[in-house]
Amino acid sequence: QPSSLSGLPAGVGEALEAEGVAELYPPQEAAVEAGVADGESLVAAVPTASGKTLIAELAMLSAVERGGKALYIVPLRALASEKKTEFERWEEFGVTVGVSTGNYDSDGEWLATRDIIVATSEKVDSLIRNGAPWIDDLTCVVSDEVHLVDDPNRGPTLEVTLAKLRKVNPGLQTVALSATVGNADVIAEWLDAELVESDWRPIDLRMGVHFGNAVDFVDGSKREVPVERGEDQTARLVADALDTEEDGQGGSSLVFVNSRRNAESSARKLTDVTGSRLTDDERDTLRELADEIRSGSDTDTASDLADAVEQGSAFHHAGLRSEDRARVEDAFRDRLIKCISATPTLAAGVNTPARRVIVRDWRRYDGEFGGMKPLDVLEVHQMCGRAGRPGLDPYGEAVLLANDADTKEELFERYLWADPEPVRSKLAAEPALRTHVLATVASGFASTRDGLLSFLDNTLYATQTDDEGRLAAVTDTVLDYLAVNDFIERDRDGGSESLTATGIGHTVSRLYLDPMSAAEMIDGLRSVARDAAGTGAAAGEATGEFVRTGDDDGDEPGFGTYTRPGEEDSVEQEGTDKEPTDPPEVTPLGLYHLVSRTPDMYELYLKSGDRETYTELCYERETEFLGDVPSEYEDVRFEDWLASLKTARLLEDWANEVDEDRITERYGVGPGDIRGKVDTAEWLLRAAETLARDVEGVDGDVVVAVREARKRIEYGVREELLDLAGVRNVGRKRARRLYEAGVETRADLREADKAVVLGALRGRERTAERILEHAGREDPSMDDVRPDKSASAAAT
Ligand code: ADP
Repeated sequence: QPSSLSGLPAGVGEALEAEGVAELYPPQEAAVEAGVADGESLVAAVPTASGKTLIAELAMLSAVERGGKALYIVPLRALASEKKTEFERWEEFGVTVGVSTGNYDSDGEWLATRDIIVATSEKVDSLIRNGAPWIDDLTCVVSDEVHLVDDPNRGPTLEVTLAKLRKVNPGLQTVALSATVGNADVIAEWLDAELVESDWRPIDLRMGVHFGNAVDFVDGSKREVPVERGEDQTARLVADALDTEEDGQGGSSLVFVNSRRNAESSARKLTDVTGSRLTDDERDTLRELADEIRSGSDTDTASDLADAVEQGSAFHHAGLRSEDRARVEDAFRDRLIKCISATPTLAAGVNTPARRVIVRDWRRYDGEFGGMKPLDVLEVHQMCGRAGRPGLDPYGEAVLLANDADTKEELFERYLWADPEPVRSKLAAEPALRTHVLATVASGFASTRDGLLSFLDNTLYATQTDDEGRLAAVTDTVLDYLAVNDFIERDRDGGSESLTATGIGHTVSRLYLDPMSAAEMIDGLRSVARDAAGTGAAAGEATGEFVRTGDDDGDEPGFGTYTRPGEEDSVEQEGTDKEPTDPPEVTPLGLYHLVSRTPDMYELYLKSGDRETYTELCYERETEFLGDVPSEYEDVRFEDWLASLKTARLLEDWANEVDEDRITERYGVGPGDIRGKVDTAEWLLRAAETLARDVEGVDGDVVVAVREARKRIEYGVREELLDLAGVRNVGRKRARRLYEAGVETRADLREADKAVVLGALRGRERTAERILEHAGREDPSMDDVRPDKSASAAAT
């Protein structure tokens, strides 16, 4: 048992030893010396695979042994379950573990009984907003991959969340795990923590560049990997790793490319290399795996993946369904899949080391930048760090590719000899502060402007900045925005301006909405309320036609603008045959559009031809949209609005039972994206339903319409199938087949002729039994239905 370990629950030391931890790695030793097992705060900036997790475990387990409670914050949901499984091996020694995923708007009360809790930073933020009582009991918090505070989208949440946890609990032990970054000392200063910084790795990592016929490594060594004329450089390197046996085994490779499409085509190309090197056993197992992937989804993505997997090659990107991603990762760890072609997301994510990492693309298209942009040094180092499997490989190799001498030189300069960039806080930006200022006020962390600014003083931003005024300036802009939208009230009497969240402000904070999303949704819902109540302008507005008004806004001299009627009292009413008191239609498309245009919905881009298609759709369906439709002359706004319409139509297709593969084709997305959009829409519609109840004048019908639209998204079905699709194991396709066979409701399932049910379920007895059971049928057994009988019943 590692001699320096003490203060851990009984049995843990022995268990670690049994796992092969004979002694601590040097960075772990340094962490223990710095007091990580005695409650001291620590920043550990060390390379991938050098044992950061054990540092965290020492901190958490010793905290628990002292009667405390620990929180482990991960950057990705997929990592939350991986870490939970990992920590669950301590349950045998009386340490309980819980993971908090799922909906953002609950307080996760049950977690109060757990010793170690794993959650994403967004989830922790939300738990604080919802007043989870156990937050006060925490004595140790671990932040994994803390260098991601640098991320403009997610970094600020981590930053503010850590600041809140430390404010609630001044003695809190904070352990931050980081990749090697340029300024780990600043992170340590921010967190009042000791710093352990090291380049040590348990396995040698050789980094180099392949050009011509060899890889040149940083250490000056060389490896001949000659490429024949016309041969692909990547393929050659993958083959070379597979043909180089160490301990009787060839080495697997990870190939990093810059887009999903490239990941897919690379995987396809590499099947030539991997397929010819499989044993018969491997071939059989891979065939089974491919069948599983095919039967899970009928999209092109799934079938392309299955075709590649059958040959021992795979691709990995965010467009894959999470089940398939996990299958690929597992089979790679089991050495069945010999090569994964991945987008950079894999580098930051789960534990999939390989003997050889090939960074094929070091530039990536960047929309804001408007062209191809080189990856950060930190990113490339993270990718390279995936090379070398502890206990399996004698070394890891990371190879960048150059096809001319100049590029080779550049790659050495830019990446291999370079230090990673320093991380920089992205907090002082409006979108980030909008949500965090509201939540900070709503959950009582600050009740005055001064209090708010002094709270924000506990962030990395404040530690780093040399422009003191900027955070205050952005905060004031955000306060104005929140006040104008009635999310907070400000009172300027007396010394410091006081701040309180309004009722709706509290709701928005708890729902975890970006206040701008909430404002957009409230505005849309209000347009229905105003119209339905017959106040404001007359009925024409409810139909939302574009009526040409005079050139009155000065923005577009000589053009005039298209506005929604009702905004201008003098607007002529034209082309409407509705009575003035008609309530507006609230359709699923209108609601899907409403939630799709919020900043909480990830955008689909308009491709060529889309502008025409969706402009046309905009006019065709104009009566359905809630709130203002921007003028066609407001280029950027209109374009955004159309992009949201594209998302809304994708959701509508899903709710109309359009096949998944049709959808992926029509919108140019992967099956994982459909899932992502559907989940987000479900969450936003749930929030919209809550808001609809709070907005004055919105009647009950609207609330019901929102709920139905949400349920249709949840199951991906038309209205008549909602009841059936709600039965476990049924799903959208089976629901439709059952319905067509005359089994229309859950109640029907309890009464129906079993042969008919079995026929509709294509003779799958086990499935039929499970479904009947879930529908509450007394005797779900199919034993009394012979297959031949069911077949003939289905035929009639
Ligand atoms: P990181 O989180 O830094 O990327 P991990 O914590 O996942 O790295 O560690 C990589 C591997 O090293 C794990 O399989 C872990 O079990 C093993 N490991 C960690 N510490 C030790 C040690 N002191 N002795 C032997 N193996 C260790």
